[in-house]
Parts: sequence; C-alpha cells; structure tokens
Amino acid sequence: MKIHILRCGEIRVSSTVPFGNAISAVSTARQLAEPDRKRVALPVFSYLIEHPNGLLLVDTGWCREISPEGVYDAAAVKKVLSAPLAAFYRPTLPAGEAIHEHLAARGLSPSDLDCVILTHLDPDHVAGLRHLRGAKRIVLPEDEYFWNCRAVYKARQPQELWIHEPIERLYYRGAADAPNRWAIDLYGDESVLLVNVPGHTDGQAAVLLRKGGKFVLLAADAAFSPRNWRENITPGFGFDRQQQLKSLRWIAAKAADPGCAAVLCSHDPGVLPHSIEI
Ligand SMILES: [Zn+2]
Repeated sequence: MKIHILRCGEIRVSSTVPFGNAISAVSTARQLAEPDRKRVALPVFSYLIEHPNGLLLVDTGWCREISPEGVYDAAAVKKVLSAPLAAFYRPTLPAGEAIHEHLAARGLSPSDLDCVILTHLDPDHVAGLRHLRGAKRIVLPEDEYFWNCRAVYKARQPQELWIHEPIERLYYRGAADAPNRWAIDLYGDESVLLVNVPGHTDGQAAVLLRKGGKFVLLAADAAFSPRNWRENITPGFGFDRQQQLKSLRWIAAKAADPGCAAVLCSHDPGVLPHSIEI
C-alpha cells in the first residue's frame, strides 16, 4: 500500500489553534480577530492511497474558487466562506495544489478514485469535493453528518460545500481499539479503518491504513503535530476538550506501537509532501 501526501493549500490561523489547550467562545473570538503577526501558516493535506481495492483519497483540501490566482484573495474567500470563517482560516491555494490539479498531474481524473473518505465536514477538508464529481464513492461517518444539526457545526461547516454531493453515510460500529470503541471497517478486512477520534468534532474519523504488521495513522485534526500527543497539549480549536484528550491518548499509544510507520496530521507544518509504502 502506498500513501502519497498531497498539499492542498494553506491556512493562516491564530497560533492558539494548534496548541491553544482551551476552547471557549472567548478564545474563538480572539482567533477570529488575531492580527497577522500572531498567526501561523499551516499546510492542508489530503492523502492519495494506492490500496489493493483501488485508489482512495482522504479529504479534499480547498477549492480553486477560494484562491483563483493561487494567492490570498480576500474577496474570493468571502464568496466561498462566511465572514467569520474567512477571518478564521485566511486560506490560500497555490497553483497546482487543488485536488483535481494534483490528480491531473498524475494522469488521473476523479472517476479513477474508488473511494473518497471525508474525515469530517470542516471546509478545509471538504471544499474540494466540487472538483471530484465522478468519483465512485464518497463516504463520511454518519455521526459527523448527524451532528451538523448543532448550531456550532452549522456555523463551522457550511452545508453548501457538501450537502448536494452524493455522500454515502457509514455507521460506526463496535471496535476494540478506538478511543470510544467505535470504528468503520471500510472493506471488512481491517485494511482501512475509520476510527472515531472525537473532540475536534463529534464524528471526526482518523484513518488507519494497515498492511501486514505495519500501519499508518492519518490523525485528521485530532492533533496538529506530534507535539500535541507527546506533551498532552490539546489543539485550541474544537468542540470538547475532554474528548480531545481521550483521542490524543489513543494516538500516543498508536504512535508508540512498533508497527507504526507514521502518524500524520492534516495541518502539520513539520511534514513535507512525500510518499510512504507499507
Ligand atoms: Zn482542518
């Protein structure tokens, strides 16, 4: 199994987002108003996976419309995101980094994708869905879809970016090895597990890719870098800090497992695009 890390744009967020250790209305308001000098530029990663059952994609990054010329464009961002989300993310999508541009550079089109897995519905993970029409399957945990009814998620996860796409909702089921003992076994052989890692959102999935005794864990936004689980620092943006801590403890245990080839976070500035084979 080969895992290719694709950079699908950038966010420029408050430095309290990756390591803030607290979530409240006040901290969120501060993050929206944070001046440029206190912001950090973080990558937005998607993952293309060559699996024996076909090509998988995990998350989609930003859409081209948010950054038509490949540079920061405040007016274009506001056509895609609400004013608060635009202020929170300050996104950029350089030329060649939109998901369909990555696919085209590899001689692929969306119809070559057997499954697109969405870890959660925040816009930096799903805005590129519009470029993937023709993919054979798009899957999302039902819990993530269900909880979008909550006001806080409705504000965070603009429905127009995903509600009209043909998303197949999969149910978490009992699993021994997961923070809340919930996971989705995509192919029934434990080679692709969507493990519920709640806290950032209720329904968020990490994706555990397993081949033989080796595995790679795509931690989504449960952590922003290894520092989160090594020092037990929760990210400063999310929904439930206690659940974030529980998810971090599980990730720390996976990272310490001798079978672990890598734990990758969706916004880790310490990671450069590369490929991993297990
Ligand atoms: Zn994210």
